[in-house]
Amino acid sequence: MASIIKEILKHLPEGVISNAIYEGANIVLYTKDRNFLIEGIEEIKKVVDIFKKRIELRADPSVLMPPERAKKKILEIIPEDANVGEINFDPERSIVIIEAEKPGVAIGKQGSVLKEIKKKTFWTAQIKRKPPIRSEIIENIETVLYESGDEIKKFLHKVGERIYNGWIRGRKNEWVRVGFLGGAGQVGRSCILLQTQESRVLIDVGIDVSREDINAFPILNVPEFNLNEIDAVIVSHAHMDHSGFVPALFRYGYRGPVYVTAPTRDVMTLLQLDYIKIMMQSGKEPMYNADDIKEMLKHTIVLDYDEVTDITPDVRITFHNAGHILGSSMVHIHIGNGLHNLLYTGDLKFIRTELLDPAITKFQRLESLIIESTYGGKNDILPKREEAEEELIKIVENTIERKGKVLIPVLGVGRAQEVMLIIEKAISSGRLKKIPVYIDGMVWDITAIHTAYPDFLSTRVRTRIYNSNNPFLADFFKRVGSNKEREMVIEKNEPCVIIATSGMLTGGASVQYLKELGENPNNGLIFVSYLAEGTLGRRIVSGEREFSFKENSNVRHVKINLEVHHVHGLSGHADRKELGRFLRYLNPKPKKIIVVHGERSKSKELKSFFENRFRTETIVPKNLEIVRLV
Ligand SMILES: [Zn+2]
Repeated sequence: MASIIKEILKHLPEGVISNAIYEGANIVLYTKDRNFLIEGIEEIKKVVDIFKKRIELRADPSVLMPPERAKKKILEIIPEDANVGEINFDPERSIVIIEAEKPGVAIGKQGSVLKEIKKKTFWTAQIKRKPPIRSEIIENIETVLYESGDEIKKFLHKVGERIYNGWIRGRKNEWVRVGFLGGAGQVGRSCILLQTQESRVLIDVGIDVSREDINAFPILNVPEFNLNEIDAVIVSHAHMDHSGFVPALFRYGYRGPVYVTAPTRDVMTLLQLDYIKIMMQSGKEPMYNADDIKEMLKHTIVLDYDEVTDITPDVRITFHNAGHILGSSMVHIHIGNGLHNLLYTGDLKFIRTELLDPAITKFQRLESLIIESTYGGKNDILPKREEAEEELIKIVENTIERKGKVLIPVLGVGRAQEVMLIIEKAISSGRLKKIPVYIDGMVWDITAIHTAYPDFLSTRVRTRIYNSNNPFLADFFKRVGSNKEREMVIEKNEPCVIIATSGMLTGGASVQYLKELGENPNNGLIFVSYLAEGTLGRRIVSGEREFSFKENSNVRHVKINLEVHHVHGLSGHADRKELGRFLRYLNPKPKKIIVVHGERSKSKELKSFFENRFRTETIVPKNLEIVRLV
């Protein structure tokens, strides 16, 4: 048994602990002594105070009440108005996962209900919110995790051993440095390699969906990168340019942990599966398959915002709200027990949107900052939020008046739900006539995931969901789940709004709708997100109006006659002003800033701004450049 576990056991009565294992950075103690399971909590608290680690006490599997009886007991104990759904037992870990419509009621005041369950059944209960919209993807992910319980238990123990069993590299003289394997001077394929004395950590491993050549992927075929040496992968958020390549790592043999928030895990899985589908549909070979995604899922370790976790002997991370999309995180990285603190913003937003609260700016310590610059150029000032919302509603209103259909291509996650909330607000306040708002396939699935994690949403939406006034459940939102339904939406003679992926018209249902709706001048097309160079979306807003599409063996010509709009103020990214304001509020101030995730000219303009305004050393690295932090 590892030394930290030995030390912990020295502080507890002899013989009460039957087994002690790691679950990642957490330490789980098992006891066969049912009294100690209940009474020992105080003693465990004392040990937690000494070691400053998360230590949990659970019943040894041999003393658990049999699941069938335990289930009956649990239903007796939990108050009825909690509305319990599924109850799943994980006997390997002595945990029972209970779904409830009202988790607060199921948990009880200060966990009183959970304590009662433990006392009566010896199971450790975890309460999960039952999503109001059924989400097939969440259910599938849970099945994968459930079926692999034993394997996951072993994996998590191995992760703990790597964290606690001391240094294996110990090249004391090495610098702490970050290398940019993608996403420097560009938007797409974000990938950073963090090297410390002891650790090799990948932060984001994305793909550039606007490209189809080798440059779509992070640059991993370089001497300084060795997949076998990677200790951990961290994914800031679910967008493909940050998460799209992760399953490929598993295809090539990576079997280490992937740290994410729970919504990021679910949404990125959905986007990756969709990516495989889109590749196959266009006759291309995807670089990973569903089995690789499954392997990735078994290796994800889910963290909440503000949950501090060791991931290697000398790296400790904390996720903080980034305000960009559901579950998006800024990653605070504490290196070498006080040696250095790095904040990676991922993609960030610094105003309150309908969907999310703004990014966090207060940290205990901070020396270096890696920040995005999608809208970092000196002219990248977005219109005010309220103006952008008004513009969107106005366009919808006008299109409805001339009996047209409005197509809003979206990235699926983020803008889609923001647009839904803006339209919901306009309709429920009477500002907009009640018309059907069709939510196509994947957008609907991702919306369902949003409703499963209200704790990651804005205070306003969260409160509405808690008060049974869930805006996503409005009756004018209608799901489009198949090609047949899609055709019906197109053919039906009624004004409506259609929200469909992809946002840049690089494939997916939005292109299908465009082909059918594009020639009618009564219809409208509203882009609400960033449009990368070369994409169909960018070409349309640049004025191109005639396109040819390959359809099986035929070529179809489409003339674009519908009204084209690009509403800018709804971006999930901070604009130039917000980035400045973010830095002004950022506390403490970093001594070094590294600007990434933007067209190179924009990153450079942001650098000049930061240097002039904040007198802080600022670097705009190129891909494959390495920046020394310590
Ligand atoms: Zn993003």
